[in-house]
Amino acid sequence: MQPVTLSDLTRDGKLLWAWCASCGRERDIDPASVPLPGDYAVPEVGARMRCTACGGRKVRTAPELYPGGIVVHRDRWRSPFES
Ligand SMILES: [Zn+2]
Repeated sequence: MQPVTLSDLTRDGKLLWAWCASCGRERDIDPASVPLPGDYAVPEVGARMRCTACGGRKVRTAPELYPGGIVVHRDRWRSPFES
C-alpha cells in the first residue's frame, strides 16, 4: 500500500496533523504550506519537523484525525461551563 503523501492531503482537502511527543502540543497544518516535496510520505514529514513550542524533534505527523481539524473538534466538545 502506498503511503499517504502531502499531495494526497492537498488533493483531498485534508489537513496535516502534527503532534509533539515531548510536550504534547498538537496542531493542524495546511499541507500546501509544508516546505517539502508533494510526494513526501506523511508519516515521514514529522522527522523533518521541529516543535515550535519546546524545540523537540519527536514530532509525529498523520492525516487529520477529525474533519476540520483538531481545534474545531475541541471547540465542538468544549463544555459551555468552562471559562
Ligand atoms: Zn513540543
